[in-house]
Amino acid sequence: MRQFIKYVLAAMLVFSTFAFFGESSKASASTFVTPVTQSNVITQYFTKNAHNGIDWSGGGLDSSIYATADGTVTHVDESNTSPYTGYGTIIRVAHEVNGQRYESFYSHLNSVDVREGQTVNQGERIGGMGNTGYTEGPTGIHLHFEMHEGYWAPQQLNPASARDPLALIGQDFGEPDEVDPILHSFDGSWATLRTVSNTGDDTINTYGSPGVGLNGTLAADRLVKVYEKASNGSVDYFRVQSNPDRWVHRDNGIVTPYIVKASFSTATYQEPAVNPERHPEGGLAPGDSYKTYGTEVTSDGQQWYNLGGKGWIKSDANGLYTYRMP
Ligand SMILES: [Zn+2]
Repeated sequence: MRQFIKYVLAAMLVFSTFAFFGESSKASASTFVTPVTQSNVITQYFTKNAHNGIDWSGGGLDSSIYATADGTVTHVDESNTSPYTGYGTIIRVAHEVNGQRYESFYSHLNSVDVREGQTVNQGERIGGMGNTGYTEGPTGIHLHFEMHEGYWAPQQLNPASARDPLALIGQDFGEPDEVDPILHSFDGSWATLRTVSNTGDDTINTYGSPGVGLNGTLAADRLVKVYEKASNGSVDYFRVQSNPDRWVHRDNGIVTPYIVKASFSTATYQEPAVNPERHPEGGLAPGDSYKTYGTEVTSDGQQWYNLGGKGWIKSDANGLYTYRMP
């Protein structure tokens, strides 16, 4: 049973006190990492169904290529024939990330340090950069790197499994906005989202869209704003950031409404105004809790809460408290 009231704040203070809840640690190590060193630059970006990967160059012949995540080498091929015609020497590595299978693909290699079936660790050197296969043109010696979600069928012309590696590799997206609950258009409540790990990890995964495109992690057990809800199949996801979008699986986030509670029988009003009219059916029963659906400040500086069908109430109403469920 969830402890219902963990924090009790006076209504007048609550919105200036939200920062108190924002203390949290930064997200930990990335799920996927860049497979080359920083001496390389991107010479071609990902374009779905046209260039299904990222090209890095600049490291020079046989410079190190690293495993993007822990995994198992599934394929090593140096034949430059179907289904790898044009890719030259290649390595494929399978990864398991929170129940989701991914494949990383490294091509045009000059050398290979691993064999099929071998387990590799994130950041471990697996081969050397080269120009085997089709590398003529401006790129020359480079790594063509692909990421696939699920199983990749390399003979497919436009594999649906292809993902933009830059969306998967741990990037510094900045931290999502913390607390300052916002009004949710999806249910009209005034709330925040607390991140929850179901596996005991320090972090949870975020996605570029609901359930698709793992694009980073967030520290568990912290409060962030939640802007939007959307579904992928029967599973709801909550958006906690824009540009780039980051979505959290419903099992990794508790959306918590803010509520008010009156110590005394308290009148409510039809709208937030300097001289408000009483709400005909409003009024709060002492001891009952009411969900808040937004806030507004009138020209006299008075803060108001929208209580839905109950109307509006002044934040300084005698005996009024706001609570946030932990
Ligand atoms: Zn390429």
